[in-house]
Amino acid sequence: ELNPAVTEHLLKILIIGDGNVGKSSFVHRYVNGQFNKTYKMTVGVDFSVKLLNWSEKEKVRLQLWDIAGQERFISMTRIYYKGALGCVVMFDVTSSSSFLNCRLWKQDLDNKAMLLNGDSIPCILLANKCDLTQRVVSADSINRFSKANGFVTWMETSVKENKNVEQAMRRLVQEILSVQ
Ligand code: GDP
Repeated sequence: ELNPAVTEHLLKILIIGDGNVGKSSFVHRYVNGQFNKTYKMTVGVDFSVKLLNWSEKEKVRLQLWDIAGQERFISMTRIYYKGALGCVVMFDVTSSSSFLNCRLWKQDLDNKAMLLNGDSIPCILLANKCDLTQRVVSADSINRFSKANGFVTWMETSVKENKNVEQAMRRLVQEILSVQ
């Protein structure tokens, strides 16, 4: 064959976590390469698209679903979770309540979304705003929490300083493709 077929994977990925932890900024940074301090929160659910040339034979079209305008944990509708293949749970290292609520977000996710074989969908835990000095959540407790709650892994990120944004998404996509 002269032109080997290129496979395009369509991956719906959810970005969940308490309000103000940096979810919208994260998506904006990842998709548009920008950090905007005055980035306006939209209310409701919206998704952004990012195309990746994953390998010579694979393209990935990411649909990033960000729940904007949610102050704290609320149980999400099943419609929102439908068809999701991966998830980012984010908290802010300067807010212990945003960290504690990650348990609720992960439980809600696992109750409502699963792979066809019944396994829970790959989920990465992001400890955002690591550029700030007034952090209240230790690496040790994040590590324990991540292992106990079935996350693929966890990473420190700073959307502000563009630290680990690409790397985190790469790791998640890698995991999603490996379980498909
Ligand atoms: P969301 O409600 O989870 O979508 O959070 P936003 O993306 O609206 O961000 C909330 C606030 O945190 C905004 O003022 C952002 O500029 C700020 N922010 C987001 N990420 C970072 C980060 O990595 N470091 C710092 N210092 N601030 C951040």
